[in-house]
Amino acid sequence: MKKIITETKSLPEIYGDYCFDKTTLRQRVPKSVFKEFLEVQNGRKELTLSIAEVVANAMKDWAIEKGATHYTHWFQPLNGLTAEKHDSFVSPIGDGQIIMEFSGKELIKGESDASSFPSGGLRSTFEARGYTAWDTTSPAFLKDDNTGITLYIPTAFVAYTGEALDKKVPLLRSMNAIEKQALRILRILGNNTSKHITTCLGAEQEYFLVEKNLFNKRLDLAHTGRTLFGAKPAKSQELRSHYYGTIEERVAAFMRELDFELWRLGIPSKTKHNEVAPNQFELAPIYSTTNVATDQNQLVMDTINKMASRHDLVALLHEKPFADVNGSGKHNNWSLATDDGINLFEPGKNPKENAQFLIFIAAVIKAVDKYAPLLRLSTASASNDNRLGGHEAPPAIISIFLGDELETIFKKTDEKLKTRNKLEIGVDSLPKLPMDITDRNRTSPFAFTGNKFEFRMPGSSQSTSTPNVMLNTIMADVLKEFADELEGMEDKTKGIQKLVSKTYKEHKRIIFSGNGYGEEWVKEAEKRGLPNLKSTTDALGAYTTPETIELFGRHGVLSEGELISRYNIYAENYYTQIVTESTVMIKMAVQDIYPASNRYALELAEIIKKSSKILGEEFTVTQEELLAYILKNNAELYKSSKKLEEKLEELNNLENITLRVNFTKDELLPLMKKLRTHGDNLEGVVEHKMWPFPTYEELLFKL
Ligand code: ADP
Ligand code: MG
Repeated sequence: MKKIITETKSLPEIYGDYCFDKTTLRQRVPKSVFKEFLEVQNGRKELTLSIAEVVANAMKDWAIEKGATHYTHWFQPLNGLTAEKHDSFVSPIGDGQIIMEFSGKELIKGESDASSFPSGGLRSTFEARGYTAWDTTSPAFLKDDNTGITLYIPTAFVAYTGEALDKKVPLLRSMNAIEKQALRILRILGNNTSKHITTCLGAEQEYFLVEKNLFNKRLDLAHTGRTLFGAKPAKSQELRSHYYGTIEERVAAFMRELDFELWRLGIPSKTKHNEVAPNQFELAPIYSTTNVATDQNQLVMDTINKMASRHDLVALLHEKPFADVNGSGKHNNWSLATDDGINLFEPGKNPKENAQFLIFIAAVIKAVDKYAPLLRLSTASASNDNRLGGHEAPPAIISIFLGDELETIFKKTDEKLKTRNKLEIGVDSLPKLPMDITDRNRTSPFAFTGNKFEFRMPGSSQSTSTPNVMLNTIMADVLKEFADELEGMEDKTKGIQKLVSKTYKEHKRIIFSGNGYGEEWVKEAEKRGLPNLKSTTDALGAYTTPETIELFGRHGVLSEGELISRYNIYAENYYTQIVTESTVMIKMAVQDIYPASNRYALELAEIIKKSSKILGEEFTVTQEELLAYILKNNAELYKSSKKLEEKLEELNNLENITLRVNFTKDELLPLMKKLRTHGDNLEGVVEHKMWPFPTYEELLFKL
């Protein structure tokens, strides 16, 4: 059943209607409970059962008033999706009577059979129990779908032993780690008033839309989210006409409904526009704390899918649905903010603020340079491998764009120290930085954009958790080093000055303002000694190096076992995704392309035979060439399919996960490429009407 909105309510009435936010809680519980709950949220107090009892009751009443019948603990297992198990509020009291119940205990903790979620070896088979635990920092919300209205409670998901089986736990731990170290720096700088520091995230979401009935005709799209065959369209990517162009009416209707649903959930959807590629779009909500923004992004992806379907469209969140067309990313806008409203990446208005700004930026420079492989790793997947380094996408090399003004300032700190000139950060006033630094570099994977960093490598379909876990943890580590060094110093001003300058000097190789998409950069980066981890297979190993294990252990973000489990899960994801793609390719090649091409070849052979009788050979020689081209490509297509089939069998016999990953990259990917080439060659010449599935022309230029 399609539900088209007929809302006549105003936006302020709708906004957050389905979100159990702080305002709602305040209205529904005694003041003392509300105050204590805030302390729990801020990590200053342990959650007690009596507080949970009152909050649970308020939540239940609110949800039931809005028509809810069920509740669910909602969590983010390591498969990158979200999971839920619904229970109704109904509790029988005899005599056929019921009451609606939801206790504090049910709010705080749920037991879940963890065996159907990946644990990467963390959970032994005899202990399949997992627990979901209420995350008090992310608001509960309602979802209204065909099964009714359900109260969703954001939760963490942990094993019986307490190890993290999800994406939320490490994120929360990394936020604590960075807060702890950043507060030390603030104290060194003389700030004794800020009590809390939180990381912020604004996640820009890119996606494609395609016609549902066309999507259903393509096995590759339906099973893998991307096209595994597809010849280049006659009309190439029209940069200017689509980007920021007028939004087509049908898409506009979809977007309108999407916004409405998101606003109702309390997600501040802000911008929507056409992206560079045809049928590609972007949505960006206003940023919030990383934890909430990560939950919200999961809901954004989910809602995009649902709303598209209502409009007989399918949203493709895959990083590279179409070869040679722009891919989709998820720009990760990251910053640090104090509870009293200071953005730590904000250039200062006075010398003291400038010292703060420079030290935090210096920490980013060092962290990104020192731990570039971990940042690369945090975006690594089989699907993002297709995007990175391709059309209009960041390369796999990590570098930072600072902008001319800021780079000049750092250069100066370096020069002044060299010439023994005094540049006293905190005394000298630095040139004022314009708030809106306009010479942005769109080709940089990691760009400073005025008061935040925009990490552009994350893929459109991935959870925002892992990139932020990495960012927070590596930053915490460098801030710790800085604080350890500065805390013991007598003259802190001088210490900061030296530290900023030394850090810049030692790590400036990571700063690059040129064209990140160019070939020259690849060479230049190599000269600078920057890693270029092109494939997930090159990046994955970084999970389990002694340095990584120590780093994550030092800050209590992930234990060795948890890191190994992540390696296992992501390695398995990598090859299973490519195995699925191979299997689908073989099916399409053998059952669709091969017979269709043969039919066409047969028709062609007939006509050549007949016409050569009438016209003579000189007129048929080019047609014979065409026939030969088709027959040859089709034979090669078939041969490659069979070979790929054999390789899949071989892979199956490999025991070790690392062997499988490498085999996939070295043996499967080249064969898939070959198979595609023959398929696409055939698509270019076989009669259009005979082609067994919709082409790029239809998928990309019709809506
Ligand atoms: P772009 O030009 O890259 O599209 P926008 O101005 O649209 O950039 O902002 C992109 C995202 O960055 C939005 O989600 C926005 O809310 C977010 N953002 C803005 N300021 C911050 C900040 N201080 N920290 C984190 N994210 C921020
Ligand atoms: Mg952006």
